[in-house]
Amino acid sequence: MSTTSCAISNRTSAPKSSRAEARAGLTGRILLTLFLAACGGGPSPSPVPMPAPVREPTQPPVAVKPRKVLPPTPIHYGPRDTAVTMADLDSLWQQQLMLPVEGLTRKAIKDNYTAGRAGRIHAALDISAPRSTPVLAAGDLVIGRLTTGPVGGIVIYASDPDEQFTYYYAHLERYRRGLAVGDRVAKGSVIGYVGTTGNAPKNAPHLHFQVMKRSTGRAWWDGPPINPFSYFASDGIRPTGRDIPIEDL
Ligand SMILES: [Zn+2]
Repeated sequence: MSTTSCAISNRTSAPKSSRAEARAGLTGRILLTLFLAACGGGPSPSPVPMPAPVREPTQPPVAVKPRKVLPPTPIHYGPRDTAVTMADLDSLWQQQLMLPVEGLTRKAIKDNYTAGRAGRIHAALDISAPRSTPVLAAGDLVIGRLTTGPVGGIVIYASDPDEQFTYYYAHLERYRRGLAVGDRVAKGSVIGYVGTTGNAPKNAPHLHFQVMKRSTGRAWWDGPPINPFSYFASDGIRPTGRDIPIEDL
């Protein structure tokens, strides 16, 4: 509404009688009230109650685990199975495996993956260590198969929890007491002991350690092999902590 239309006129008309005067006064008050209300000068409208702000329930702060930035995937040397892709090597590096024999460093082991074996390559690492040296879970693993045979001797097949890779341990002297299929073992846990069972020379105790990619159409313990030599992220030093089960040493 414009200012002009809200201006109060000073013009008044002369009363003709007291009754007419009263009527005019009443009409004037009504008009004045309407006028003031229209121009915003009337009585304030009763306030509309505002809804109370909705308070979110107090949540405990969520701890954001910083994502570990890994160094680049190491270069793969030597022959590589055609079924093993670069993405597989990246995934293997993501496992951050540790050397699976206690007390050994990565510098102390040899890459004998391509050593000859009766018309084929070895396709595994032989890691020499004194008899009865603890054998460790190379990563967080699920024990999948425990068997004994004339070639591998006392063996363990295990897998990472996502079932991307199979880890084969052979020539063990024995298992850790109580080890069973289905056990979930933390990286660095003792799962067995170095020995010479199967066809290993009796004077050369070692762990035969093989990594295989899980592959459709093949038994899970029989995938294409991958040379793990360049993909150990740490030495065979067992971590200490409450998440490591108490082993039977
Ligand atoms: Zn071997």
